[in-house]
Amino acid sequence: MSVIALDVGGTHIKGAVVADGELLEAEEWHTHAHRGPDAVIETVLQCAEELRARAVRYGSEPRAAGIVVPGLVDESEGSALFAANLGWHDFPVRLWLAEHLDLPVAFGHDVRAGGVAESRLGAGRGCTDFAFVPVGTGIAAALIIGGRPYAGHSGFAGEFGHMVVRPDGEPCSCGNRGCVEAYASASAIARRYAAITGRTGLSAKDIQHQARDGDRVADRIWTEAVECLADGLAALTAVLDLERVVIGGGLAKAGEPYLAPLRRALAERLTFRRPPHLVPAQLGPRAGSLGAALLAQDLLDGRIR
Ligand SMILES: [Zn+2]
Repeated sequence: MSVIALDVGGTHIKGAVVADGELLEAEEWHTHAHRGPDAVIETVLQCAEELRARAVRYGSEPRAAGIVVPGLVDESEGSALFAANLGWHDFPVRLWLAEHLDLPVAFGHDVRAGGVAESRLGAGRGCTDFAFVPVGTGIAAALIIGGRPYAGHSGFAGEFGHMVVRPDGEPCSCGNRGCVEAYASASAIARRYAAITGRTGLSAKDIQHQARDGDRVADRIWTEAVECLADGLAALTAVLDLERVVIGGGLAKAGEPYLAPLRRALAERLTFRRPPHLVPAQLGPRAGSLGAALLAQDLLDGRIR
């Protein structure tokens, strides 16, 4: 008995076939979001059909599907309310996919599903209260509270990247200024370095290497990125009493040269209490699709409706 899973992102769609908790197949396709929302919907369906065919080749007809998407989602309604990078507005994803596949479908938010996967299979195991914080082009958080993903009143919880840590600071894509994301995301690091030096086309990783090699501008921007992220994580910890912080996304790949200063900066800010353990994520870019598979399995097991 298998489930198929889809993690639909702005650049890639990641798919998985999971049977009895074992990953049978993992695949990745281009989203080609520039072709418009309807074309993306068509592509998602083709990917789902391909995953189903692969499951059948394993002799394991899928019993359910899981799909997770970015942006603002209503998990109870099964709708993508606003996914800017897919062009989707008020799209009833769960209903649509269930009708087309003739399967029960579980629906969720990509980062929260990634948090569920890290919680059960990865760096969050054995921990009931933690934040999974992928740091990449943007920054978000999945909050696992009391062992369960916390979606908030409207399903918008976890917009950690838009916590203001530098009032009147750098402009952010959300329209506000001084957000964590405007300093600490990979794209912010690249953008800020280019703005000061005029050198475009360098990635956050390149800029980290520049800093290591004595480039003072690069060093300052990296340090600010770490400090702003630590400011946000300290506030989150003060409010939620987190036991662990799991850092994922592209920047976590930098490993200890990134995580050790972040750990120190977080500890410095939490003057009145022990800081949470700060650890790298374990599932990498597969966290979302594995989370989608877990949601689909939960649906079959009657753990969610
Ligand atoms: Zn913002």
